Amino acid sequence: MLINKLSKSLRAGGGCGGNRIGLGKYVFKCPKCGYETQPEAGKFTCPRCGSLMEAILAELPKDIKLRYRRRLGVWSYSQLLPEPKNRVTLNEGGTPLIRISKGLFGKFEGLNPTGSFKDRGMAIGVSLAKAIGVSNIVVASTGNTAASASAYGARAGLRAIVLLPSGKVARGKLAQSIIHGASIMSIDGYFDDALTEAMNMFKAGKAYSLNSINAWRLEGQKSIAYEIYEDIKVPDNVIVPVGNAGNIYAIWKGFWELMQIGLIDKVPRMIGVQAEGASPLYETWRRGSSELIEVKEPKTVASAIRIGKPVNWLKALKAVNNSGGLLVTVNDNEIMIARGRLARRGIFVEPASASTYAAYIKLIRNSVISNDERTVLVLTGHGLKDPDSVK
Ligand SMILES: *Cc1c(COP(=O)(O)O)cnc(C)c1O
Ligand SMILES: [Zn+2]
Repeated sequence: MLINKLSKSLRAGGGCGGNRIGLGKYVFKCPKCGYETQPEAGKFTCPRCGSLMEAILAELPKDIKLRYRRRLGVWSYSQLLPEPKNRVTLNEGGTPLIRISKGLFGKFEGLNPTGSFKDRGMAIGVSLAKAIGVSNIVVASTGNTAASASAYGARAGLRAIVLLPSGKVARGKLAQSIIHGASIMSIDGYFDDALTEAMNMFKAGKAYSLNSINAWRLEGQKSIAYEIYEDIKVPDNVIVPVGNAGNIYAIWKGFWELMQIGLIDKVPRMIGVQAEGASPLYETWRRGSSELIEVKEPKTVASAIRIGKPVNWLKALKAVNNSGGLLVTVNDNEIMIARGRLARRGIFVEPASASTYAAYIKLIRNSVISNDERTVLVLTGHGLKDPDSVK
């Protein structure tokens, strides 16, 4: 009898009817013959008739407390953001901070509505575009800004014009612009050439620009810092992939504002990562140049940061210098190895995002940072964006 009881409670996960593995409040019930039993962690069929059991909460609580009354996300911080009357939103933000290893966390921005952090700023920017009554929005893009502008444009009933460097955009990102009904223009050359064209359309008054020259987009992106703060206060380091260089500035600005408000007493060290073949900001910083050192033909597998003339380079340097931060480069091989290692921890990101983990590995090895510190990798985009990069 005792043995029987013991083995029964073991099957249910030990002690108190499965409490130890968290099944204590459940019963297994057979939807076919009505047989009821204690739940098991590894057996799912009815011992009487073989049907699949249903897991039923034995007692539902009278009252539940949710951590967030409203959904956590960009608009939770509207006090610190533009407040357009009508919001164009797909519930952006509120992404998880996932523990990767001792002292290391990943802010998984791939879980935004279109799969990248671009949605945070696009929600604000498109809301404002709608508010001022434009009918066209325009972006140049390596892919993610286009995907986001296409989705939010569709949401708002605006025509999205997206300029893409021909043959250089990851398949998933291109599919998003197509399915959301954007007007797609293929540009011979690099992202930087596409941006010149997009700026011309903006300056000619043909469309409202939602590239990161648009400060309101960066405002939305600073919510990444607020969310990190909600989860772990101030980490020691935040590592960000740098392309057009707006995001590293936006995140720094978010922390800096929290410091001005008096909630925190320091900002994290902002660490920017570029790919070896596309490292204009790194070179500018390393040589202490007061002019941007452009890269004419940027090359890297990390297409989201394949940019030779980052428009926000000055803001980004401000963020790095005012936080005691630094810039670092990694090569394509290191990026792909790092991406594989993240994937084997269950996190699938696109190559640009994996550059942060490659940088972390390098900086740990060179004792620039240690795992006694707390470091956040900004995992900017989802791996499904760029399936062709998986070999
Ligand atoms: C846009 C983007 C970046 C680069 O951000 P910037 O603000 O342009 O520096 C990095 N990773 C991914 C996935 C992106 O979409
Ligand atoms: Zn000026």
